[in-house]
Amino acid sequence: MKTAVFPGSFDPITRGHVELVKRAAPLFDRIVVAVGINSQKQTLFDLEQRMQWLREVFAEEPKVSVDSFEGLTAHFCQRIGARYLLRGLRNASDFDYEKTISQLNEIVGEGLETIFLISQPAYSHISSTIVREIIKGGGNARPFLPDQLQLPARYNTTP
Ligand code: ADP
Repeated sequence: MKTAVFPGSFDPITRGHVELVKRAAPLFDRIVVAVGINSQKQTLFDLEQRMQWLREVFAEEPKVSVDSFEGLTAHFCQRIGARYLLRGLRNASDFDYEKTISQLNEIVGEGLETIFLISQPAYSHISSTIVREIIKGGGNARPFLPDQLQLPARYNTTP
């Protein structure tokens, strides 16, 4: 069974993440979208909310499941028997960062391979960081969010 883990904070999941998982689906038997829990990092949305959105968004994708983990991504992959990591590349800064991480993961994960997909032009400007700023500022983040995702009422945008 060819299993890939797609790790991230997903704070919140965006259309960019969804597009990446859909394009990767034919390459693997199973994709585990996994929320990395970093207790040092303050998130806008709590873990349960982020996981619930992921479950809703991928409910119709039979190959995709949702999980969370603490500690090293490479160890999580070993625990669930995943030999592949899935990551997206939007630009050169993603590349610089991801290159080092993937080289480390190959060693720590004892042969764990990172598979990169270059984001499509229509999605390469979308990041969770920017989306969070729009939400916090009361702007309309809908164009960047999956249709299934309903923001809590306190984040309703003003026209
Ligand atoms: P992190 O907190 O590790 O940055 P994210 O949730 O922001 O995690 O992203 C997880 C993965 O999704 C990363 O590989 C990132 O490059 C990828 N990604 C995020 N947004 C996009 C996008 N718009 N297009 C393609 N890949 C993306």
